[in-house]
Amino acid sequence: MIKLTQHRQVILDLINESNHHWEAEELARTLAERDHPIGIATVYRGLAALEAQGLISSFQLADRKRYERASKAHHDHLICTECGTIEEFSNDRIEQQQDLVAKENGFSITGHQLVIFGVCRKCS
Ligand SMILES: [Zn+2]
Ligand SMILES: [Zn+2]
Repeated sequence: MIKLTQHRQVILDLINESNHHWEAEELARTLAERDHPIGIATVYRGLAALEAQGLISSFQLADRKRYERASKAHHDHLICTECGTIEEFSNDRIEQQQDLVAKENGFSITGHQLVIFGVCRKCS
C-alpha cells in the first residue's frame, strides 16, 4: 500500500468515483463545492504525483491534460467539439496499424494517444 497525503487521497477518491475525464481546474472546483478546498497548485502537484505512481492516467487534450482512472485496458478517446462529451473506444485494427506504422518508421513504441474530434450523437 502506498501511503498518500490526505489531499492526494481526496483527489484520487474523486477520480476513482466515476468515469469522468477531469481537468485540474474542474477538479479543484468540485472539491471546493464538496467542502474540501485544495489550492490549485496542490491539485496540480497531486495529480502529477498520482500519475507518476500509476494510480491515475492522463491524456493530453490541446494544451491541457485530462485525468482519469488508471484503466486496466488501453483505450482512446472521441471528443465532441459541441458539448465536450468524451467517449472511450478501443479498436484492435487501429492498434495494429499503429504498430505497423511505427515499425515502418523504425520506431519502438513507448505509448500513443489517439483523440478523434467531432460532433456526438446528441449534438448532431
Ligand atoms: Zn455533443
Ligand atoms: Zn478515458
